Amino acid sequence: MSFSSNVKKELCAFENQARHCDIAEIAGLINACGTLFFGADGPSVSVRTENAAVAKKYFKLIKRVFKAKCELTVTRARNFRKNRIYRVATYSEGGADKLLMAVGLFENGQLKKRVNHTAIKSDCCKRAYLRGAFISGGSLVNPEKSYHLEFINSDGEVAAAVADMLRFLGLNGKITLRKNHSVVYLKEGENIVDLLNMLGAHISLMDLENVRIVKDMRNNVNRIVNCEAANIFKTANASARQTEDIKFIAETKGVDFLPKRLGEVAAARLKSPEASLKEIGAMLNPSIGKSGVNHRLRKISQIADSIRGRHLND
Ligand SMILES: [Zn+2]
Repeated sequence: MSFSSNVKKELCAFENQARHCDIAEIAGLINACGTLFFGADGPSVSVRTENAAVAKKYFKLIKRVFKAKCELTVTRARNFRKNRIYRVATYSEGGADKLLMAVGLFENGQLKKRVNHTAIKSDCCKRAYLRGAFISGGSLVNPEKSYHLEFINSDGEVAAAVADMLRFLGLNGKITLRKNHSVVYLKEGENIVDLLNMLGAHISLMDLENVRIVKDMRNNVNRIVNCEAANIFKTANASARQTEDIKFIAETKGVDFLPKRLGEVAAARLKSPEASLKEIGAMLNPSIGKSGVNHRLRKISQIADSIRGRHLND
């Protein structure tokens, strides 16, 4: 089972503490994967999903809250995967008007396609709405690969409301367009952990944290290795430049041109191109420190540069 379906399974088993939260969760579900229809005898609503646990959850919620009558149909998708598609429909005689009015999608005899702000007023209800929206229209990439959680909506206004709710809860939700859909996504691992916590997916959250710890450790090791590699590269580069300067001075001005204290360092550098500044300092008699060596090598480079400058001016 994928990480995403594990999270959904856990969230489907989560029970709200209050009726207002149940209503908010139903609103989230219908906004994400519901279809509204207005027929001769009134409104009807059907929720369509490939996830059996989600169908069951929605069925249970609307039974419990509205005692609505539902019709469940199972068909096979026409695509090559031939997944099962579950459809839970409530018609007007089954109580669809009452249900849709409560979630704010049916008002003054008309269907609305928006998020009802009264249904998501409290924090608890915002979380419940997002839970409904995630289980029916969301997904989560395996955290081993990358941190990405998204809510897919066909309606831009609903997507904007989802992003607002995430922002309200302190999470950095962004919106992008993909084909005919608006996608609200979270990218940072910490944001995803926070959301799973707020939605009540505590087991998945611990699994995700474990992955994060291992990944962080791996990154730290990589960073240290890269840093060491960069230092070695830097030393090699500097050494090549110094060697070039020393050889240039010897060729243009003769091997004895440099004063003794600089000549000693130059000789040590030529002898050991891979030595660090500290190692060069130790080769001298009397030995000197790293900064002393650095100072002398810089002096040598300045001398080389001034000779080059004079050559250019000649
Ligand atoms: Zn609530």
